[in-house]
Amino acid sequence: MSHNAELIAVGTELLLGNIANTDAQMLSKGLSALGINVFYHTVVGDNPERLKAAVALAKTRADIIITTGGLGPTCDDLTKNVLAECFGKKLVYDEESAARIRAYFDRLHTNRPMTENNLQQAYLPEGCTILSNDWGTAPGCAFEADGVHVIMLPGPPSECAPMFEHRAAPYLRSLSDGTIASRTLRIFGMGESSVEARLRDRMNSMQNPTLAPYAKTGEVELRITAKADTLGEAQALIAPVEKELCEMFGPLVYGADVDSLEQVVAMHLKLKGLTLGCAESCTGGLAAKRMTDLPGASAVFDFGAVTYSNAMKAKALGIDPGLIEEHGAVSEQVARAMAEGVRAFSGSDVGIGITGVAGPDGGTEDKPVGTVYIGLADGKETRVQLHRLDSKTRGRDMIRMFAASRAFDMLRRYLEDTSAG
Ligand code: ATP
Ligand code: MG
Repeated sequence: MSHNAELIAVGTELLLGNIANTDAQMLSKGLSALGINVFYHTVVGDNPERLKAAVALAKTRADIIITTGGLGPTCDDLTKNVLAECFGKKLVYDEESAARIRAYFDRLHTNRPMTENNLQQAYLPEGCTILSNDWGTAPGCAFEADGVHVIMLPGPPSECAPMFEHRAAPYLRSLSDGTIASRTLRIFGMGESSVEARLRDRMNSMQNPTLAPYAKTGEVELRITAKADTLGEAQALIAPVEKELCEMFGPLVYGADVDSLEQVVAMHLKLKGLTLGCAESCTGGLAAKRMTDLPGASAVFDFGAVTYSNAMKAKALGIDPGLIEEHGAVSEQVARAMAEGVRAFSGSDVGIGITGVAGPDGGTEDKPVGTVYIGLADGKETRVQLHRLDSKTRGRDMIRMFAASRAFDMLRRYLEDTSAG
C-alpha cells in the first residue's frame, strides 16, 4: 500500500517570514526517497486552535502526519499537547527521556543548572514509540491512532535532520511491507523537457521500478525506485533499468547516487592520481570555490587563479599581450593559453582556462553574452570548447554557474576517456 504524508510545521516565526521552512524541504526529499508521497505541506503558528484544525484536516487526507517544531520546553511549545488531544491520548512522564534530558544538559551546560520546565519534554503521548534525541534535548515520538501514523520531530534543523534519518526513517521503513530502494542518475547537458519527452512512454509503462525525473539547476535527476521483499531484490529490479537509461543517455549521465559534477571530477582525478589547476576569468573563482567545497579537495586541487584583467592574464599566466589584443580576451586562443599557462605555473597535471562574456554588458555580435571558451591542457594536447549559453533566460549568475559546470563536464569526459595517470 502506498502512503500519503502531510507535513505540519509549527511555528509563528515561519509564518512571519523570519525563517524558511527548510525542515519541510529536507523531509520531503527524505520521504520521497522512501517512496512515500507527500501531498501537502502545512504551516501553522504557535496557536492550539489553529493547530487542531490543521491536524483535523490532515487526518482526512493523509495516513502519515509529520510535525516539526514546538517540542521544546517553553510555553509556546504546544505540539505534543495538541496532537495528543487530537488523537485522544494522555501525556505520560517517561523517566528514561527525563534522564537523557538531564544528561544532555550536564554535558552542555556544566555551570548552569537545568530548569524544571525542561522536564516537560519528558511528557510523551501514552503508548508512543519514543524517538530519542541525541542531537538536542526534546525527544520526538511516533504513534498510530485513528488509522494515521503520527511522527513529531523537533524544529531546529540540526536536530530535525538526524532525527529523521536515524529515528523516523527506520520507523517509516518498518511500516511498509518490504523494502524500497532507489538510485538516482544525474544528467548534465539536456533539459528536463527533452529528458522527459524521451522517457515518457517508458515511464508510463513502468510500475516497479518507477522512474521520475527532477529538474535541478542545469541538470536533471532521474530517480529509479523499486519495491521488493528484500533490498537485494529491489536492487535487482533497479539494475536493468539503470543500464537501459545509461545506454539511452550515454555520456550525458555523469554519475549515479553522486552529488555534483565536481564531485565526480574529484573522484576521477583521485583515482588517476592527477591534480588540477585552473585559471578563471568570467567565473571569478567559482570553479575553484566549487572544487574546494568538496572535503578532501587538497588531494586533487592545486591552484586557482582569477585572472580577470588582460594585464593579469599576461602577467600571471604568461600570455602574450599581442595574442589577447589580436583575438580578444574571450577567444579560443586565450582559453588555450590560460589552460596551458596555469598548468605551467602550478605544475598541475591538468590545467583549465575559462573565459567568457557573463553579461549583462560586454557582448558583441560575434561574441554575445553567454559566449564561453573553456581550455583544457594536459601537457600533451590542449583542447578548447566553445559554449553559447542562453543569455536571455539565464542572467549573469547562471551564466557563470553554467560556465563552471561546462568546464567540470568537459574535464569529467576527458578523465573518463583518457588513460592518463
Ligand atoms: P526547541 O527545543 O529549540 O524549542 P522545538 O522543537 O520546540 O525546539 P521550535 O521552538 O518550534 O522547535 O523551533 C526552534 C527553532 O528551530 C526555530 O527558532 C527555528 O530556528 C528552527 N525551526 C523550527 N521549525 C523549523 C522549520 N520548519 N524549518 C527550519 N527551521 C525551523
Ligand atoms: Mg521551541
